[in-house]
Amino acid sequence: MKQISRILPIFLAALLLTSSCVGKKPRVAIVGIGIECSTFSPARTTLDMFEPILYGQDIIESYPFFQDNEALLNRADWVPTIMAWATPGGMVTRECYDTLVNRSLRMLKEGMPYDGIFLDIHGAMSVEGLEDPEGDYITRIREVVGPDVLISASMDPHGCVSPTLAKGVDLITSYRMAPHTDRYISRERAIVNLLDRLESGKGKPAYKAWVKVPILLPGEKTSTRVDPGKSLYAAIEPIEAQDGVIDAAIWMSYPWADEPRNHGVVVVTGDDSAQVTDGARQLAEHFWSVRNDFEFVAPTASLEEVLEKAIKSDKKPYFISDMGDNPTAGGAGDVTWTLQKLLARPEFRKEGGKTLVYSAIPGPEMVAQAKQVGEGGHVRCEVGAAVDNRYAPPVMLDGTVVKILDRDVNDQVLIKVGSMLVVVGEERSPYHYKADYEALGIDPYQVDIIVNKLGYLTEELYEISKSGDWMMAQTRGGVDQDLLQLPYQHLQRPIFPLDPDMPDPDFEVVYM
Ligand SMILES: [Zn+2]
Repeated sequence: MKQISRILPIFLAALLLTSSCVGKKPRVAIVGIGIECSTFSPARTTLDMFEPILYGQDIIESYPFFQDNEALLNRADWVPTIMAWATPGGMVTRECYDTLVNRSLRMLKEGMPYDGIFLDIHGAMSVEGLEDPEGDYITRIREVVGPDVLISASMDPHGCVSPTLAKGVDLITSYRMAPHTDRYISRERAIVNLLDRLESGKGKPAYKAWVKVPILLPGEKTSTRVDPGKSLYAAIEPIEAQDGVIDAAIWMSYPWADEPRNHGVVVVTGDDSAQVTDGARQLAEHFWSVRNDFEFVAPTASLEEVLEKAIKSDKKPYFISDMGDNPTAGGAGDVTWTLQKLLARPEFRKEGGKTLVYSAIPGPEMVAQAKQVGEGGHVRCEVGAAVDNRYAPPVMLDGTVVKILDRDVNDQVLIKVGSMLVVVGEERSPYHYKADYEALGIDPYQVDIIVNKLGYLTEELYEISKSGDWMMAQTRGGVDQDLLQLPYQHLQRPIFPLDPDMPDPDFEVVYM
């Protein structure tokens, strides 16, 4: 009896140990909201623009790495909750944000307790009447799940890492390529780092070094396709390869929102104080040292100059980025400033002139009219400038319906005006793929000029542009590239390039 009473506690302790560590998968929640919002646009983002919002198993299925890597999927008991991502746009309404946050918190509460959380956010959300939304989001998540749960975040490098966000998470990384062809590689890395720390029992990193870099540049100048962006992001690899470093990341931040958190940031996490600290400072100093070398990733000029060149060129297709209203950077996507100028050009007035495809402008009335008269019919209707009419009013399109494209959402029609083909959608429509054009019966290789509401070209369009040419036009809209003209009030100053003569910063390493 005596012996049993002595052995029993040991046996129970061993049983407890076995059940809590060996063979037990960590329980990991997945949650996130992602959008990039221009505060210099009158557009607003509402809940319907986040549709389809993913819940439960649909979130798991949306990540290609889980489909390709069953071993990874089997490393945890996943609790996918809500994933709400939207195309960039104007500020998120307060009502929409509150709804998404409340759903996140409610679903997280229902699935508790957790060992870890994978937080999948963009990082450049702006919300009416709320500063630092991602900082608010993580603070409220922590209030629900507590301080001990290991949280690993994946972000877009055009997001902002405020001190509140950096403190709220344990691990944090960002994509290392722009265009973001590694967006799932980064998410997978954030998940693997999280699981490694949970399985090894190492838990939270000993050091999380945050360094502010007072630089604010547009993505159109910081693509990693070319230097200095390419070498800067390549410098992450040797730092991360050290044993005492878990992850290193650089954020370019987002220039079309006016908050104190909008500036470059470097974060390095790990257990070796010197490696983490030196790595963070090295990356910050590297970033600063090349600040003057960031240039637009394609030749850039005024719309007039770009058009002159494109009209004279015999290369096909000649891409022109209509940058100022790029909907994938936060533009309303319905600014008519460029289209109005194109319609006024004599070169495109007559049939048989240079072919020009304009993609795209919203015009729900035009789409309805085109459906009524059918392909080959005549239409006359105003399009665009329903949301952002600051630079030009709605424009009259008077032409022939070439193609009607019925889709599940956002039907498109192709209207011929002179030698121009204008894509009109029910809503704003980013055109990123060859298939987008082909669906309308357009072979992009056969078009003389393609004007696209876009900044740097997507991989697919970039490939097509190699047989032709590409220039970026400085046009007007909610993501105007002329940053020096933007009415900033809340940025931390001094900052490059707004204060070009500012002294070198001291790159203070803050341990979050
Ligand atoms: Zn981005």
